[in-house]
Amino acid sequence: MTPKEPLPTDRRIARLAEIDPRTEILAVGPGRLEAALGAWLAERGEPGYRVEQIVHWIYARRVDDFAAMTTLPKALRGALEKRFRFPSIRLAESRESVDGTTKHLWSLVDGESVETVLIPTESRDTFCVSSQAGCALACAFCATGMIGYKRNLTPGEIVDQVRRMLRLRGHEEHGVNVVFMGMGEPLLNWENLEVALETLIDERYFDIGARRITVSTVGVPERIVALGEAFPQVRLAVSLHAALDAVRDEIVPINRRHPLRQLLAACRLWHDETGKILTFEYLHLPGVNDRPEDVDALVDLLEEVPAKVNLMRYNPVPGAPYRRPSVEETTAFRDTLRGRTKAAVTLRKSRGLDIEGACGQLRLARGASVVADQTGEVEREATPTGETTR
Ligand code: SF4
Repeated sequence: MTPKEPLPTDRRIARLAEIDPRTEILAVGPGRLEAALGAWLAERGEPGYRVEQIVHWIYARRVDDFAAMTTLPKALRGALEKRFRFPSIRLAESRESVDGTTKHLWSLVDGESVETVLIPTESRDTFCVSSQAGCALACAFCATGMIGYKRNLTPGEIVDQVRRMLRLRGHEEHGVNVVFMGMGEPLLNWENLEVALETLIDERYFDIGARRITVSTVGVPERIVALGEAFPQVRLAVSLHAALDAVRDEIVPINRRHPLRQLLAACRLWHDETGKILTFEYLHLPGVNDRPEDVDALVDLLEEVPAKVNLMRYNPVPGAPYRRPSVEETTAFRDTLRGRTKAAVTLRKSRGLDIEGACGQLRLARGASVVADQTGEVEREATPTGETTR
């Protein structure tokens, strides 16, 4: 059965307003927040410069309590508290790998939970953020897919992962990459992703260069095009994993709704719009997507779309009928591809495997929505710039 895509306007998010009707201050977005705060402050007879002070406390000082905004009058802090709220993401658990990769599990206000992974390298820190609680798309190899879809994250819940990671890492020496490769399919949370990207990029807020942000998708064609049009500097990674529809239908079920010809057409349009080379992520599943016919199809596909290929070694999920390839097998697969295509083909080093560093795995390990024996992991690997790949 083809998995059902969540509604663009998520009724489950609307339920959050029943839990707490105050406006989530990180969800408003650049420009709109200044306008909303400006109007609200003017009604109260407060000077306009308070807007800048409040934004500074939120994004530069990274507080999550209005009471901490000590440059504001006490009465104003109290009034802000009554009118606005911060996203209720609470740190539930952190695990640090021997390689420095750290995984954080956050509890949300309605009891859902999501993960963020910090992957440090010598020069940059990469934050792998979640865009949905769970995921509807049920990719056959994925721990998050086993959880099932819970709800979209609000823009505030998305950017607050970054804000809190910036606070937690405890230094400002390294630049930051943000990759949307955590839990969920970001392009199925498009409206909130747009606000989150605007907020991350805006120089008054996070000021993270758009080139430092990667959106990873398993393939929602019309939104790939929309991403290129709205954010031409943001990078795109497509979780391909198979170049034949018959294979991809099985391991990435959204392919039954949006087959490869649609996906590739969208990728070409994205390239035409942005002038950039996209990344195809390819999880090596021995005997499934590395057969001679798979290689032929992948080589042909790379003739059609300017792209590089990131190969990843699969890490088994209990119940999934795939095995982990040896380093030698994946290296041989890489070399075969390199001999057949001019596209760059890389094999990524694993990071954080000792802390269940893969998407959805820590949440699964805590037994959040599935039985305990469904725990497993999907490999996340770092690129030279510290990116992860789905
Ligand atoms: S790989 Fe991505 S799209 Fe597929 S089930 Fe996992 S989180 Fe969802």
